[in-house]
Amino acid sequence: MAGENKLDNVVYSYTTTNNPLEEENTVLRDTVTKLDQELRRLKVPALMVCEVVSSLKDKQAIIRIPNGNKFLCNVSADCDQLRSGDQVLVEQRNLNVVKKIKLTQKYNVEKFVIVSKPQESFEEIGGLSSAVRDIKEVVELPLKKPELFKKIGIKPPKGILLYGPPGTGKTLLARAVAKSTDSTFIHVAGSELVQKFIGEGAKLVKEVFQLAREKAPSIIFIDELDSLAARRMEMGTSGEREVNRTFMQLLNEIDGFKPLDNVKIIGATNRKDVLDSAIIRPGRLDRLIHIDLPNADGRHDILKIHAKDVKLAKGIELKEIADKMDNFSGAEIRAAVTEAGYFAIREDRTSITRDDLLGAITKVKAHEEEEDDMNIFG
Ligand code: ATP
Repeated sequence: MAGENKLDNVVYSYTTTNNPLEEENTVLRDTVTKLDQELRRLKVPALMVCEVVSSLKDKQAIIRIPNGNKFLCNVSADCDQLRSGDQVLVEQRNLNVVKKIKLTQKYNVEKFVIVSKPQESFEEIGGLSSAVRDIKEVVELPLKKPELFKKIGIKPPKGILLYGPPGTGKTLLARAVAKSTDSTFIHVAGSELVQKFIGEGAKLVKEVFQLAREKAPSIIFIDELDSLAARRMEMGTSGEREVNRTFMQLLNEIDGFKPLDNVKIIGATNRKDVLDSAIIRPGRLDRLIHIDLPNADGRHDILKIHAKDVKLAKGIELKEIADKMDNFSGAEIRAAVTEAGYFAIREDRTSITRDDLLGAITKVKAHEEEEDDMNIFG
């Protein structure tokens, strides 16, 4: 019996015979055709998502590519009428505009960022007095009193970089300055800005800054900055090139606003050593603030803050407890207080004892060592 079968727009002919070899041959031919089609599909070069700056006569347009550069390009005949601001797909090799993308395909940046009005205050931060002083000077003062800077004629930094180990209060510090300046806090993880498709990451960066301007005064907090702004030795894969494009867009956006605009950028990283120096050049995130693990006094301050709202048994010396928290970050100190609370609850008590706190310190330390082992072997 012979017939026709339409699959993936390709017409496969088939014949059913009783000969098993012929049947197998037909199946193999089908497979080869399908693989060939798939191969051809994958070989088609990726298209860039760009923005139309202006549409010109004779099927030409000026477009902005994701790194911010503008080009005069030819527009394909079957591309709809273009207007400035439209999103279009552009061939990478010759920059021909091939297709307009519908607005519904536009990125919704709010899916990638957390926008909030923080409530944390500087009083809730322990052991970081010099960092608090710095951040007040370079972020708070220009937002609150820009006229001071105008009068004297100096330009405050557009942004700062907080660097240091995890859990030491970088996010807390950024949130506290947003609260003290009554700014919108836009929290974005560097890794979220790294997208798979060409131009998408850069577009997201652009939208983050647009959002910040709309909601000004605002603070853009870029956590894990290193996942976007790490020095790259080579730009081999298309993924690496895409990260670089996104990074270039970030630099462009930072360069594009003025020091006294009411948007500030705070970058945070645990890996300052891998950062590309372009991000900390003058005029960008040029004030670097080191946030280290707290010393004994710092730990005592942080412990007092986190023990303030819990019920402690009488006679507990917090200084003695803090001394036993060697190498603890602020986050670990908080975790130890919470853990001590659980010890008390498990034994049906209504207050935390010294032994609960000591037990909790041992538990948090063990957890930390487990994590270190996982980092070595994982
Ligand atoms: P990461 O680098 O992992 O993002 P981070 O440095 O941003 O960490 P935070 O998220 O600010 O750390 O800290 C986590 C929590 O630990 C805070 O919400 C706070 O409860 C507590 N904490 C950390 N540092 C301090 C501090 N210096 N004073 C008071 N609490 C702190």
